[in-house]
Amino acid sequence: MRLVLREFKKRYGSEKAYGEPFKTLIETIISQKNTDVSTAKVAKNLFSVADTPKSLAALPLKRMQRILRPAGTWKHKAAYIHKVSGIILNQYKGRVPKERQKLIDLPGVGPKTADIVLMYGHGVPSIAVDTHVNRIPRRLGLVPANAKLHDVKETLERLTPRNEWYAVNYGFVSFGQEVCRAVNPRCISCPFLRFCPFGKERVKRLKIQR
Ligand code: SF4
Repeated sequence: MRLVLREFKKRYGSEKAYGEPFKTLIETIISQKNTDVSTAKVAKNLFSVADTPKSLAALPLKRMQRILRPAGTWKHKAAYIHKVSGIILNQYKGRVPKERQKLIDLPGVGPKTADIVLMYGHGVPSIAVDTHVNRIPRRLGLVPANAKLHDVKETLERLTPRNEWYAVNYGFVSFGQEVCRAVNPRCISCPFLRFCPFGKERVKRLKIQR
């Protein structure tokens, strides 16, 4: 894990960038089962109309649905955002809670969304197991192939110091988009190939097929 982290820092730097907690929460709900490009576009459109718990709770549901339509599962997402905005406004006086369990208790918010809000919104270290963070440690053999999502999180948090969790999280996501992609990972040019069981097996297979 030490070598992985060193490579991530070399590639992606050590700077941390945080967003506003409420917008991070809403954008993460929009991102569920959606691409990064579409999420950014839809979130921009929504925030140009309403971007606070008060204004989003007051936005007519039909109008919100229309804006969210390109993000997929838009009926669910609109209902969640409407409810979440109302709860944040009334129950939490407009402030997104910092406690993981309180976040998970919000409609449409699971462990991954809660961890993203903590890490990238509040700046509270908490590794979020998204599709990339779930896939790459398995390929690298850092966690067993049958590990559950919370096992992946616990293992990564155990293997790295807390002040490095941002770099670990950001690194896996960026590396998953760029190199260790779900389909056609770039194993041959990957700096981790020499110790990656999945990559070594894949390269061997590709050579046999040639
Ligand atoms: Fe991913 Fe291949 Fe690199 Fe392993 S060798 S980390 S599977 S890109």
